[in-house]
Amino acid sequence: GLDVTWAVKWLTLSAQAMAEHRVELIELDRAIGDSDHGENMDRGFQAVLDKLAESPPETPGAALKLTAMALMSKVGGAAGPLYGTAFLRAATTLGDAAYVDAPALAAALAAARDGIVARGKAESGDKTMVDAWTPAADAAAAAAADGDTLAVLIAAAEAAEAGAVATDPLVARKGRASYLGERSAGHRDPGAASSALILRAAAGAAA
Ligand code: ADP
Ligand code: MG
Ligand code: MG
Repeated sequence: GLDVTWAVKWLTLSAQAMAEHRVELIELDRAIGDSDHGENMDRGFQAVLDKLAESPPETPGAALKLTAMALMSKVGGAAGPLYGTAFLRAATTLGDAAYVDAPALAAALAAARDGIVARGKAESGDKTMVDAWTPAADAAAAAAADGDTLAVLIAAAEAAEAGAVATDPLVARKGRASYLGERSAGHRDPGAASSALILRAAAGAAA
């Protein structure tokens, strides 16, 4: 199973990805939002790194809970509470276990997706981060049936990436992009894009 070292590496790679893709996420949000998503996510994950250094977690669940708190207080906007809820629900699902196996990982990803849906009330196809998390959680559940943790994380990352790409032609029905109506079509949803980066980092940390 995956341990706290994996969790810390995941969060560190996520922070690196947010820094590397900061401008790209800003550009995506410029097209259909208010241009701050890259800034918000970069600031949030830098705060996660600060907290990890300040009080190193002892379990994967504790690492994800610390992440939820940092993202809720530092990301702001729509994405802060959504990611905060996702990481908090995942942390609760993992509890204080030292190791995460494939079924637990799939359950944590499903809990994260359910938290985002409970908080933001978006459905699949509304052109939000749900369009990355729902295929990711579904792919993880399918892979967990006969795969190891790496297989689950790779399946989730690939599904999230495909889900993010699939938001391009959609018309936004939730969040700031929905104010644009039909003009939101033809652009990738920034939150779906950042979600795919975070899930790719989870797989990268396990490889
Ligand atoms: P804001 O829109 O407040 O500036 P961000 O730019 O940081 O916040 O985040 C925007 C992203 O949040 C969107 O691209 C979308 O993925 C996500 N989002 C917004 N509203 C919702 C919602 N109701 N449910 C799920 N995701 C949402
Ligand atoms: Mg924004
Ligand atoms: Mg904003």
